[in-house]
Amino acid sequence: MNKEELKQYICDFLDSRKEEIIRTGEELLRMPELAYCENRTSALVGSHFKKLGLKEKTGLAITGRRADIDTQRPGPRLAILGELDALIVPQHPFADPQTHAAHACGHHAALNAMLGCAKVLTRPEVMQHLCGSLAFIATPSEECQNQPYIASLIAEGKLQFFGGKSEMIAKGVFDDIDLAMMCHAGGSNFTPSGFNGFVMKRLIFHGKSAHAGANPDKGINAISMMRSAMTLLDAQRDTFRDEDHVRIHGYIPDGGEAVNVVPDRAVFTLQVRGATPEAISDASEKVDRCVQAAALAFGGRAEVQNLFGFMPLIAYGKLDDIHEENVRNIIAPGVPFTRGIYRPSSTDMGDVSMIIPSLHAYFRGFSGTAHTDDFLACDQVQAYVDPAKMLALNAIDLLWGDGTAGREAAKEKTPLTKEEYLEKMQAFSSGTEYDFRKKEQE
Ligand SMILES: [Zn+2]
Ligand SMILES: [Zn+2]
Repeated sequence: MNKEELKQYICDFLDSRKEEIIRTGEELLRMPELAYCENRTSALVGSHFKKLGLKEKTGLAITGRRADIDTQRPGPRLAILGELDALIVPQHPFADPQTHAAHACGHHAALNAMLGCAKVLTRPEVMQHLCGSLAFIATPSEECQNQPYIASLIAEGKLQFFGGKSEMIAKGVFDDIDLAMMCHAGGSNFTPSGFNGFVMKRLIFHGKSAHAGANPDKGINAISMMRSAMTLLDAQRDTFRDEDHVRIHGYIPDGGEAVNVVPDRAVFTLQVRGATPEAISDASEKVDRCVQAAALAFGGRAEVQNLFGFMPLIAYGKLDDIHEENVRNIIAPGVPFTRGIYRPSSTDMGDVSMIIPSLHAYFRGFSGTAHTDDFLACDQVQAYVDPAKMLALNAIDLLWGDGTAGREAAKEKTPLTKEEYLEKMQAFSSGTEYDFRKKEQE
């Protein structure tokens, strides 16, 4: 077979297993699980790996797993990723009644694509034409929901990071990987030009309680402190450069308890997003200064806890070219394919892209709005079968023959080394405190 014939074989094979592939996708849809609790989903992935005769490593970042297959010929090591977790959307028609977890981001379909891709690529008649090796990696906790649970795992020393891929990078799961790719559900076929990264911050304002009617002069109002910090922050929004895509948004999980008591505690949790690690740090420092100024103004105390972060996602031209060509020419001829859409949201695939040339491509077949109750597959072939073809065809291009295309793609420069990445991640989970209380108040 030449390469084009092999690609045709891939498509024919996956088409012939269409019903089976759709069934697995729908099975995954019906077992939504939250971050680091994806036990059933992970076990299902494991059973598919086992059926394919793959050797695997389990318990990676708790629920993650990785199965490898080697062609025994030198060449790039290509990782194909699938995300395991769902998120909390109680109204979603396929939400778990107990946990309210639902696949409202379509991870079940993308994970299914990885399984479908493994099914065809591991066949000897395919492997014989390739070089290098393949690593199929199921990654936990992309949505990072269930945060108190994740925080407890970190406190117990079972985890270092909220994001599953961040954790896997730290644990060395990606150390031997040359190229990484995954796909994500959406309303159209496209590759983004990038994603924002973020740092998640908790701002805790400590004031002093007093009778709100009789002696407000004896208190320090934590809500006033918080409001002042927010006003200062809003006034700085025009200092953010357009190209940095900075977005800051949050909510107030704690704002006092009674109407007649000056609140002595207020908490504002927010996410600071930006297009580069530098832009995120700059915006994050501005937040800290606003908190410091508000604490000073009221003579109070404020804590800044940087909880965790994801890195921005970088697009790699060579991988995007290969993907676009396969989608345009083979999978969806005549259907619009877009490149260069910037995503101001975030993914921990960004972390992978900081240290390994990576592809994060979107496939169509879903309607509604991601992360809400109407995000559902509207075309089963586009949602479950086509993405498996996309991943498999890209792998063929990258590992065909002596793997020239894969070697070239692997040479594209990454912004960071793993060590630099881990250093930056530490900064995303640090903290500081500003104390302007008068001595006698301590
Ligand atoms: Zn999502
Ligand atoms: Zn997602």
